[in-house]
Amino acid sequence: MSAPRLPLVLQVADIRPVTPRMTCVRFAGTEVLDYAAGSCVPNIKLCFPHPVHGLLLPDPDVSGRYQWPEPEGRQLVRTYTVRRLSRENAELDVHFVDHGDDGVAAEWLRSAAPGDRLGVLGGGGKSIRPAQWYLLAGDESALPAIAAILEDLPADASGRVLIDVADEHERQDLRHPAGVEVEWLYRRGGASRLADTVRAAVLPADRSTVFAWVGAESATVRELRRYLRTEVGLDRSQVLLIGYWHRGMSESAYKAAADNDRDPAESSSRPGISRTTA
Ligand SMILES: Cc1cc2nc3c(=O)[nH]c(=O)nc-3n(C[C@H](O)[C@H](O)[C@H](O)COP(=O)(O)OP(=O)(O)OC[C@H]3O[C@@H](n4cnc5c(N)ncnc54)[C@H](O)[C@@H]3O)c2cc1C
Repeated sequence: MSAPRLPLVLQVADIRPVTPRMTCVRFAGTEVLDYAAGSCVPNIKLCFPHPVHGLLLPDPDVSGRYQWPEPEGRQLVRTYTVRRLSRENAELDVHFVDHGDDGVAAEWLRSAAPGDRLGVLGGGGKSIRPAQWYLLAGDESALPAIAAILEDLPADASGRVLIDVADEHERQDLRHPAGVEVEWLYRRGGASRLADTVRAAVLPADRSTVFAWVGAESATVRELRRYLRTEVGLDRSQVLLIGYWHRGMSESAYKAAADNDRDPAESSSRPGISRTTA
């Protein structure tokens, strides 16, 4: 398997609604196979078009680091989850939330159509580690990641999943092991109850059996990191918390300011975890 030549450009083949606020964008073509030749899950870095200049892609220098001839291109990069990847059909699905605020990705989504092209800077990232009991918690933006993690769990896995969404219409049918309980939290115009519900969740008495994964707004992630690490006493190797967005800040600004609240010492990629169907 050879490393892909990055950046590359993916073309939209199909767009379909998943729920009122969630849209599946399917990319297809040989470029998907190029992307899949490298480290490609769980996350993908997408470049959205500049409103005037179109796609602004960086050039890799001799060491492979990206140089941006047009610096504003860097502000148009966003992180998404590879919801499904089929090498057999050369298809890659990303599920986009229309979060209702301004933003290059949200605005692109509102008028996206087959034939549109997005740049790809690369992929990869961390996911869960093997455990006996899992706590997964997140909002809509983390729902594609949670759905993909659940599909990859062994059939005998157990745990609890808490998903914070706008209302009942955002609920999806998720495939998950019988021993994993999924609970939907509906905001219905109110505040998120995700952090409070995680705090109230009963965890196994033997904490060494637990792995906790959280993807949500920055403040929730910070609060839950304090809770899980300091109050519950989980080791860094037993948790992975990532800020999926920051209220009032673009993702590029959030990354520059706080690297999405990542702690590089948390978790590590789980060998064998894969989003591929072929
Ligand atoms: C590892 C990772 C994986 C991700 N996977 C997905 C995914 O599969 N699907 C998905 O939809 N998102 C996903 N996200 C979140 C997505 O990258 C952010 O929501 C991103 O900010 C959207 O870019 P934008 O250009 O629309 O808005 P930005 O320009 O980044 O932000 C503009 C404004 O919108 C607000 N905003 C951004 N996101 C949200 C939100 N979710 N809810 C409410 N307000 C928001 C910001 O606070 C800001 O005020 C992921 C993030 C990470 C870090």
